[in-house]
Amino acid sequence: MKILTLNCGSSSIKYQLFDFKEGESLLVKGLLERIGCKDSVLTHKVVVRNEEYSETRPVPSHTEGIQWIINWLIDEQKGVLKQVEEITAAGHRVAHGGEYFPDSALITPEVKKKIEDLIELAPLHNPANLRGILAMENLLPGIPQVAVFDTSFHHTLPPRAYFYALPYEYYEKYKIRRYGFHGTSHKYVAQKAASLIGRNWEELKIITCHLGNGSSITAIDRGKSVDTSMGFTPVEGLVMGTRTGDLDLGALLSIMDKEKLDTRAANDLINKKSGMLGLSGISNDMRDIERAAHDGNQRAQLALEVFAYRIKKYIGAYVAAMNGLDLLVFTGGIGENDYETRQHVCANMEYLGIKIDLDKNCYLKGKDEIISLPDSPVKVVIACTNEELVIARDTYRIISKK
Ligand code: ADP
Repeated sequence: MKILTLNCGSSSIKYQLFDFKEGESLLVKGLLERIGCKDSVLTHKVVVRNEEYSETRPVPSHTEGIQWIINWLIDEQKGVLKQVEEITAAGHRVAHGGEYFPDSALITPEVKKKIEDLIELAPLHNPANLRGILAMENLLPGIPQVAVFDTSFHHTLPPRAYFYALPYEYYEKYKIRRYGFHGTSHKYVAQKAASLIGRNWEELKIITCHLGNGSSITAIDRGKSVDTSMGFTPVEGLVMGTRTGDLDLGALLSIMDKEKLDTRAANDLINKKSGMLGLSGISNDMRDIERAAHDGNQRAQLALEVFAYRIKKYIGAYVAAMNGLDLLVFTGGIGENDYETRQHVCANMEYLGIKIDLDKNCYLKGKDEIISLPDSPVKVVIACTNEELVIARDTYRIISKK
């Protein structure tokens, strides 16, 4: 059974093709970028044969983009399929499931309508996700498709964690509340890390730190997300590559006033110009910032301190929220690879029972591993995330029930 996963952004499509016949094997992964431009680029890796292909040509829409991807999947040289009918199902990453979807869902006309209704809550992401779903419908009519929502895992948040202290009517009228994102990743790494320490995640208090360009942190109490740092949009919470994370709204209003910013410009400010980029003035990329910090750049050093301190504060808050902690998990490009961040976050946390093995932490990169000391009351683990695999697994599970 072959499952194609699609993660459609406004101008890009990430895809992977899995075979679920003998276990779970990844056959192909690729990325189409710059959709809508004259120089769209498709990079296509045939994992099973260790080959890579790339080509540039204009791709005006998602439908044409997916058509190109499918053509390469069945191409004699670049492909792994004899015919397109070998694709059993498609799984889509969908950013926002609102209050509708506690789990991934088989795509039906009603589900599409709800994803469309939720554009109001995710104006950047849901339209692109929907475009991918419709493109697949046109190209491969009748193929079962599944939507896997970034928000689903956080459906268990209690009202005390998801309400903002705004007039209640805004929740009723506009569904303004905290939703949380990165749900597939938090759930996947929590389960993986628990099994790495030989425990069932449903008996543990876990904090998962997904640290990448976008970052979020989640408190998971016996298998349920009980709090998470992203809110109504993915801008709340931790300091990110270009997003502010938590911010005094009064400060934003003051900047808008002084710089004469409209809501669009303010949105750009908090989403694209802030975070590590804004603080350091160097880059949104952790590697560039660390290099500059080692060379003595003070703003880079400040950005790193603010980044790690925010994570530390959230860990403290979530220990309080759950009345304890058994397992702390690091994942995402930074969480998996950057030992300095892990070291800064875990420093001086003995009071909370967090003690890491500094030597072990230093040499580990992109590998599932326990990094806490044997006598650390809280186990600390690096667990590599794999959102595409979760999408493929959920798709397989849901179409098997059909
Ligand atoms: P996204 O949110 O776009 O999926 P990723 O999870 O890929 O992001 O993470 C990207 C971040 O991970 C970047 O800031 C990058 O600098 C950082 N990163 C990747 N590899 C390393 C490394 N070896 N050391 C430090 N940071 C790294």
